[in-house]
Amino acid sequence: MHKHRPLIHSITTVALLLLLSIESQATQVTQADSNIGFAIVNTGQAGLTPEGVLVSGGSWFNLRHLAQNAVLIRHPKGDVMIDAGLGQKIDKQFSENSFVMRQLFAYENLNPAIDQYVKAAYDALNVKKIIPTHLHWDHASGIVDFPKAQVWVQKSEYVEAREGPAPAHLQSQLNHKDTQWNFFELTNTAHLGFSKSLDVYGDGSIVLVDLKGHSAGQVGIFLTVSSGKQYFFVGDTTWTIKGVQDNAPRSDLLKWVVDINWDDEANTQKISLLHDFYQTHNDITIVPAHDETLMKDLPLFPDFAY
Ligand SMILES: [Zn+2]
Repeated sequence: MHKHRPLIHSITTVALLLLLSIESQATQVTQADSNIGFAIVNTGQAGLTPEGVLVSGGSWFNLRHLAQNAVLIRHPKGDVMIDAGLGQKIDKQFSENSFVMRQLFAYENLNPAIDQYVKAAYDALNVKKIIPTHLHWDHASGIVDFPKAQVWVQKSEYVEAREGPAPAHLQSQLNHKDTQWNFFELTNTAHLGFSKSLDVYGDGSIVLVDLKGHSAGQVGIFLTVSSGKQYFFVGDTTWTIKGVQDNAPRSDLLKWVVDINWDDEANTQKISLLHDFYQTHNDITIVPAHDETLMKDLPLFPDFAY
């Protein structure tokens, strides 16, 4: 009798697997129809910087080229950009900076999102909303290239940005007469351990959560694509995934040179939160906005992952 049991078990297992695979195929067809996907749009990069400057505990011999990215989400209710990256007018915008800051934050390989869209015959009018994680210059520069899109931020973020000086905020990026500013507040609906959230289209595909600290109203953005795979775009809470993995802030050297965070303590708390999240959700890909090493595993525009 004992010898037969494993056989029965394996028949049951095969039947179960068959059932599961039929179900997952059916799910995939439905989800493919809803067509939610995304691409990283690389609009430029920062100059070479030792990792030790970017993240506490980083190597001083590992030279990094942080990326300046936007994210394009395809959604049946209207495409959405997370951040706008460096835009066509960045050179002029950047002249608001002092000489020293122009050296410190110099960018290379400029390739604005709008130019990439034209080249790939992607209609920029499909972009209905731009949701910046925050309004620092390297995330807001391209906003003026999309005057038909609604720009959605928390009021606290907008107020800080309009009052804030260079280098973090460049007013020519924010005071353009054609930009359609819209304001939202997060609701008291918990999402994956975050106490406040906002479901952008009401279908759970794009959900915003509070990551204030780096700036007054920074948001993190959860994205679920058609396959069910989930991503968590965390803005500049840390610049590198190493910061999340090691629960490490930016270096003391950097803090000594320039104030990077609106509220250091609040940002440190958010890094801890992300670190805990990382340890308990290994099925969700965390994407700091600037970590160029992650890009090899993510779809780069005009390629999309669905
Ligand atoms: Zn940034």
